[in-house]
Amino acid sequence: MNMPLTSQPSSSTAQPGAELAINGGTPVRTQPLPWEFPGAYWMGEEELDLVSRVVKARSPFRFYGLDAQGMVDTLEAEWRTNFGHKHALGVSSGSVALTIALSALDLGPGDEVLVPGYLWVSCVSAVVRTGAIPKLVDIDDTFCIDPQDLQRQIGPRTRAVLCVHMSGAPGNIQEIASICKDRHLFLVEDCAQAAGASYKGRAVGRFGDIGIFSFQLNKNMTSGEGGLMVCEDDTLFRRIVALHDLGYPRTEAGRLDVNDPDTQLWGLGARMSELAGAMALAQMRKLPAITQAMRNAKWRIRDALEGTPGLKFRTVLDRAGDSGPALLMMLPDEASARSFIDALNAEGIVGPQGSLTCITMRQWGMHWYSNIPSLVNRRSNSRDGFPWTHPDNAFANAYSYKQGALAKCDDLHARGAMLAIASTLTDQDVSDVIQAMRKVAQGVL
Ligand SMILES: *Cc1c(COP(=O)(O)O)cnc(C)c1O
Repeated sequence: MNMPLTSQPSSSTAQPGAELAINGGTPVRTQPLPWEFPGAYWMGEEELDLVSRVVKARSPFRFYGLDAQGMVDTLEAEWRTNFGHKHALGVSSGSVALTIALSALDLGPGDEVLVPGYLWVSCVSAVVRTGAIPKLVDIDDTFCIDPQDLQRQIGPRTRAVLCVHMSGAPGNIQEIASICKDRHLFLVEDCAQAAGASYKGRAVGRFGDIGIFSFQLNKNMTSGEGGLMVCEDDTLFRRIVALHDLGYPRTEAGRLDVNDPDTQLWGLGARMSELAGAMALAQMRKLPAITQAMRNAKWRIRDALEGTPGLKFRTVLDRAGDSGPALLMMLPDEASARSFIDALNAEGIVGPQGSLTCITMRQWGMHWYSNIPSLVNRRSNSRDGFPWTHPDNAFANAYSYKQGALAKCDDLHARGAMLAIASTLTDQDVSDVIQAMRKVAQGVL
């Protein structure tokens, strides 16, 4: 395996207690931290080899071709073995995987899907596209669904819970899964940001009915675009396969099978190409190394700073299962979060121009419900205002998606901060981050 690139050593002269760089002192470092694209730095010969096999065989389509190489098939087979799922299906993105999952569960107008307020716009988009109504649930210090609020929000229309394993680590997934089971709700796990993560030895995606992953550039492994869906149930998987394709299952020969009356649906055209499959296969084989690098760097930083007055970290219930791409911090209030990050950036704890390496949660865009204009304003893709105006959805007329809807979420949005953990941090990078955080905490908190 090729080794990732390492960044240049940087100047590391300032001591804790020294003048802050933001006040004109010497910065801890001057070299930007690496980009937060975990898989990209690890791309090399392995990806090139598998992709070139597809090109040389002139067979970029998974179901048939001149000499199909079975890249997507192999990806799915190895994924099942590595993570213990019964079924796995490569798809073209994480966003479409969410839409497929909700349609596979037969959701639509009249149904409500519970979603946390810290998520990604795709989570809400998938619910609205099916014609169902998203209902917000608050989060806790895990930055994932708060099981107590989940209990409170379940109503007569609730049919499913979309649990989002944000920023690399699962929250209280066992409890969330058991609530869903008791209340007869479907559970979909959005593992887009958490490939390679687990909880007490069990891979994410194995707690609910369906799990989805993304291989977009920002995720733990990448094929540029791509995604994967997992589930246990044979009938549900047959629907998933049909929905990701043209609405019908395929025969052994890769041709559409229109004769099964139980599986005649409307497909999304979201198949994974053999090129994406080849990339994802090479990256999946490196996923343990990528996540280990991030996890180690992240926890070295966390352990060194634990107990720093004014600085708290997100609750991670099982550190071994954390895939590691982000260090989430909680500051005493919004003003201190802002000055903490401004001062850290000035110390050189910042990524390349245009990156979101070290930011306050206010800068984290559509990861927060109240920053999603199409949700706050109940937008529609069609003239009739569907699904908000659908008569079966009248139960949700008074639901609010404006800031103020979720107290804990709003609080963490205001005083939270994030350091993205690149998969290629050197020992020097790690010690610069620790030194800068100590210096800044002493100076501004
Ligand atoms: C990235 C992401 C998605 C969507 O995946 P794409 O492959 O970019 O469509 C869905 N949910 C979460 C939580 C994500 O971070």
